[in-house]
Parts: sequence; structure tokens; C-alpha cells
Amino acid sequence: MATEITAPAYRVIPIIPALKPGAMEGLKPFVANEKMQEALGFPGKLVDDWHDRTIAKMGEMLGKYRSFKVFMDACVHCGACSDKCHYFIGTGDPKNMPVARQDLIRSVYRRYFTLPGKFFPKLVGARDLTREVLDEWYSYFHQCSECRRCSVFCPYGIDTAEVTMAARDILDSVGYGMKYSNEIIGKVHKIGNNLGLPGPALTDTLEGLEEDVKEDTGIDIRFPLDVKGAEVLLITPSADFFAEPHIDSLVGYAKVFHAAGISWTLSSMASEAGNFGIFIGNYEQLRKIALRIREVALELGVKRIVVGECGHAWRVAYSFWNTLTGVGAGANDPFAIELQSQLDHRYKQPMHICELTWDLIERKVITLDPEANDKHIITFHDSCNVARGSGMGDYPGGQFEIPRNIIKAAANKFYDMSDATTLEKTFCCGGGGGLLTDDLMELRVKGALPRMEALHEVVETHGVNFLACICAICKTQFTKVLPYYGYNRNMVGGVHQLVSNAIRLGDK
Ligand code: SF4
Ligand code: SF4
Repeated sequence: MATEITAPAYRVIPIIPALKPGAMEGLKPFVANEKMQEALGFPGKLVDDWHDRTIAKMGEMLGKYRSFKVFMDACVHCGACSDKCHYFIGTGDPKNMPVARQDLIRSVYRRYFTLPGKFFPKLVGARDLTREVLDEWYSYFHQCSECRRCSVFCPYGIDTAEVTMAARDILDSVGYGMKYSNEIIGKVHKIGNNLGLPGPALTDTLEGLEEDVKEDTGIDIRFPLDVKGAEVLLITPSADFFAEPHIDSLVGYAKVFHAAGISWTLSSMASEAGNFGIFIGNYEQLRKIALRIREVALELGVKRIVVGECGHAWRVAYSFWNTLTGVGAGANDPFAIELQSQLDHRYKQPMHICELTWDLIERKVITLDPEANDKHIITFHDSCNVARGSGMGDYPGGQFEIPRNIIKAAANKFYDMSDATTLEKTFCCGGGGGLLTDDLMELRVKGALPRMEALHEVVETHGVNFLACICAICKTQFTKVLPYYGYNRNMVGGVHQLVSNAIRLGDK
């Protein structure tokens, strides 16, 4: 474990942190190189006429996205959002207050797109776009995980995540993109997943898993790949294929399909649920990445599309796949129409793996023995993109209830964290929104503070020793930052890891 970064001390009473102006100034992720930028159709490096192109792009977006224009105009600086961001709470840097983050771009909007800002800039807090301002954008819009917590508290519903996405899209358009996200998107286009895991390696991994599970259970549980005519296509984050603890959830999905007798397949071409197009705020990339799913679904002739444990992937699937790809309804190009006639509409399209599993539990198609998890005292972390960017089931709040219902069916000991930090008020793990890079380790550790405090509380009061998640980013982030807060990384796991431990397996 790296020791140079020190986690902030737990606070006894959550209070507005002491301001530390400039605490995170200059902290920024590596800039994407020319190859990475150009592979996505962006300029290779900062263009000479970046000033004019930035203003032009802003103008284009203000015309195209009404929400962006409203967010630029509507803020009354009431301050309700200011202490709601985990990065502000953890760093004390006032520019990490959501309202201040928005103002980095709002001040430029005022200068170039409003009359008072053109004529009386100082009076209305308008400022010129300079190279320093552009660098400040790059730094602080990469200190926002697009978690949307602040928007829950804003009386006008201003969504800082959308502002951050717009800012990142503008930065990419002038050749000032981020290495981590853009490199990953390039890998998805070239190889099929964020990790750059090629098809043969995936085949090997899945075969190895079949052997391990057979050794463990004595039963032939399959991990099928590219099977034409399977009923379900499972789209899951590539971390599920090899990283701990993610892989334990993949084993859980396979056991659920096996026990329920559902034929299913993974895809080597769409071997990634994640869609970093949303993180960089670029709808072209968002769509291009999502279209792989449709292509594979058509090719394999599947009837259902199910998404594994991944927060932002579920948000994209739930909120965008319909109009982007025709999974669900919405798009009306010939391929989307073909897919609509192929999919089985007795089921939700797409469906979250938790919805599938909970339905099977409720209908008693699968049976769980909760005693199998008796060594675990469990709490659940609501992932931002599931909590505030999507839903589950057919009723409001299903995204909160369904994963908890599964945990309670799979285990006997469950305790929720404090109300102020769960459900729609959940705190980000600190690594979402494209910030899960070691370049930003200090931010990730400090931004995890509010979640770690809530966890610490249930550890102290109930002896919690298992932090269940349904997001690949949360799992990775927690396994990395828990040791900074004095906890063992092994306490992180997936909801389907608990299912895997508890499920009764037959020979179906
Ligand atoms: S969206 Fe999340 S990370 Fe971004 S400013 Fe709001 S609370 Fe902070
Ligand atoms: S809560 Fe909304 S209106 Fe109030 S300062 Fe924050 S963004 Fe502005």
C-alpha cells in the first residue's frame, strides 16, 4: 500500500469541513496522447485556436442541450449543494463545492453568452477564457465523479454531473482529453473491453473458471461464450472475468442461470458492460460503444439482454440503450426494429441481473440457504449511477429494495449504513466518473471519506465485515482505499458473490 497519501481523520459529527483554498489545485489526471485522442476522432493535442473553438463548442452545446443552458442560468447560489460533495468534504477545497465547480464554466458562459457579462463582466462574475481558466477546468472537472448527489439537494434540480460532462466534451473537442478514459474507450473499440482482454484469453479464463467451479461444487456449471441461439446475452464488466472480488459475482450469475435452467451466453465482441462515453460526456462515443451490444444481440439471436453488476453500465443501459440502440424501445432505424421483433417482450429489456435473480427467488425457481453466509455481517453500498441514474423493477425505489432483498434472502446478518448516506443520498465510492486512475489517488482516498465514515459506524456498532456492492468501479475503488482507512480490502464483495455462496444447485 502506498503510504505517502494519508486518509483524512474520521469526523465525530459530520460538519462542514474547514475550507482549504487551493488544496487540490493543479491535481489532474494525465492528458491523453495524440494516438489516443485521434483514435476517438478528437484533435491529437490542444489546437492553436483553442480559445475560439472552445467558445464555439460551448455555443453549439447551449443550442443543442436545453438542460445545459438552464443549468448555466438557473443557479441562485443558495448554497444548498455546497457541502454535499464527497470531494469537497474530503479535501476542503472550495472549488470542489458543486456550485463553485459549475461556476468555473458559468463565469465563462456569462462573459460570452449574456449581455450583462459582455458589458459589465466584473459586476456579474463573468471572466475571460484564458489558458489558466482552461487548465482549471481540466483539473476540477476531473475532480467530479458525476455522481449527482449534489443535484438531490438543489431546489432547481441543477445537475453538476451534466455540467462536468459538458466541460469534458468541450475539452476533448479542442484536443485536451484525459488519458485514462480515452485510452479505455480506444481499447473497447479495438478489442471489445476496457481491459484489452482478447478473445482467446477470455476463452481460457472461462474454461479455467468452469474447472474451478466443478472442483468446488462437483457440478458442471457452464460459462458459455458466443453461443448462437442462447436465450440470454449477459453483458457484464470485464473486471468480472479476472479480478477479485468481481469474479465471484460472475460465478454467482452462472450458478443462477444453471439453477434456473436458463440458457445464456457471454460475447467476446461485447465483453464489456462499461461505457466510458458517458464519463467523457460524448454522445457519439456513448452510442458507438452501445451499438456493439445490438450487433452482438442480432448476430447471436438472443431473446433477452441482461446486465451484470456495474453501476454506470446499468445507467447507460437503463436510460440510454433504448434510444441509442433499440434495446427496449425508442430507436426506429431498421436494425433497432429488427431487434425489437427478436427480443422477448414478456421480460424487461434490458434487465439487471439483480432483477432476474430476485424474480427467480420470489417465484421459488431458485433456493438460497442464508446460513451459508453466516460468517458475513453485511452492509450495502448504493452505487451512484444505480441509485440516482436508473431504476429496477416496476416501482419507484426498486433499485434500493431489490439488491437488499437479494442480500437478505442470501444471508442472515444485514445492517444498513446511516440514512444520510444511503438510497438516493448515497455517497460516491470516490472513484466513479472516469476517476479510477492512480493519477488521482489522493483525490480517490480523500473523496472516500464520507463512505468510510458511514462504514466505520456500522463496523463499530454491528461488527460489519462485508461491504456488498453492485458496481465494478465501487469494488475496485474500495479494495484500493479501504487499507488507507485501516480496513482489509477483502471485506469488499458483490451481491452475487453472496448468492453464489448460498444457492442450492441442481442438475438443470
Ligand atoms: S456530481 Fe458528485 S462529484 Fe460532482 S460535484 Fe456533485 S456531488 Fe460532487
Ligand atoms: S443548490 Fe442549486 S441553486 Fe443552490 S447553489 Fe447549488 S446549484 Fe445553485
